[in-house]
Amino acid sequence: MTRTALVYSHDFSACSYGDYHPFKVQRYRLAFDLMTQYGLTSLPDGHVRECGTVSDEELLTFHSPAYLQRLAEFNASTESRADFRYGLGDVENPVFPGFYDWARLCTAGTLEAARLVTEEGYDIAFNLAGGLHHAHRARASGFSYLNDAVVAINRLVAQGLRVVYLDLDAHHGDGVQEAYYDTDRVLTISLHETGLHFFPGTGFESETGKGTGRGYSVNVPLMEHTDDALFMKAFDEIAYPLIAAYNPDVLVTQLGADTFRTDPLSRLEITTHSYSYIVRKLKALRIPWVALGGGGYDLVNVARAWTIAWGIMNGVELNPRLPAEFVRTISAMGCANTMLLDAMYWAEEGDRNRALDEVERSISAIRKRIFPAIIGTYATTSGE
Ligand SMILES: [Zn+2]
Repeated sequence: MTRTALVYSHDFSACSYGDYHPFKVQRYRLAFDLMTQYGLTSLPDGHVRECGTVSDEELLTFHSPAYLQRLAEFNASTESRADFRYGLGDVENPVFPGFYDWARLCTAGTLEAARLVTEEGYDIAFNLAGGLHHAHRARASGFSYLNDAVVAINRLVAQGLRVVYLDLDAHHGDGVQEAYYDTDRVLTISLHETGLHFFPGTGFESETGKGTGRGYSVNVPLMEHTDDALFMKAFDEIAYPLIAAYNPDVLVTQLGADTFRTDPLSRLEITTHSYSYIVRKLKALRIPWVALGGGGYDLVNVARAWTIAWGIMNGVELNPRLPAEFVRTISAMGCANTMLLDAMYWAEEGDRNRALDEVERSISAIRKRIFPAIIGTYATTSGE
């Protein structure tokens, strides 16, 4: 039996980045509603839990005091405010009423997910509103004001736990990598669209960590048009063996859905096929698991992806046809989708060959650069 917790608050959707901003907070409500329509929010061993709160002290384990002060000041302001030194108030990271309260709520949710797994005996806890992986110590970035994953992982590390952070978002998990770049206590692995022409412009294989952290930052940059088979290949040949070898006390994953081929921001060609495959393999590892949401700019993809993930976490087989009530809701939003699951997608031959060459080159470089030392090191450490 797997005990699971879904950390959720209706307040996740109670604000707005602005009508023209791609980050739509309705995504959380839509995902929760779809889960409910599939019967996944009233399971005997899958509980829906509240977020709790986060203290300044916890936030200060990563963020700078001056930055937090600025966030608090702007949060209470009734006029429009901006401070570009902190990345605040531009088109990407708008200052809207209550934005800091909202960011704190999302962070509290991730801390609660970590607590449920480490202190209350849950096998898996999933915070839909976590995974805001671009926030830096003193700068908002990529729609992220507070780095919930880092704040929660800091607490786990302070408890003496070793952590793997796996990031499956279309964008490089730069904020989290940066926080643990010089330590071997947290292994960060990010699969993402290459930063060559894509935000945030980092996440190349050459970024492997420094000092005692050398080899503990792993990046698999993927070409545009990387499809299901190639995404699974990158996961199977890099992420999976490293997670298994490191054998962490806690696995933290960012499960962004902006990798999907119908996402408006990325050029990857992923579907629910490889997404489900990876979530299934992660569950099979049976490592205490803190799962987080993340990116995703097609609302229906977000709702489908996270519902699929939550279904797998609970071992519930879902009807591949979306519930009629949900189809009505999304059709009113202009979405024609009627299926929960997509067919596996193969990119066009030319695109696929280019992406395949690149993923093979990348896998071989990482296996040469990181595997011998690291897998060897892990084996020695676990033999102690
Ligand atoms: Zn993203």
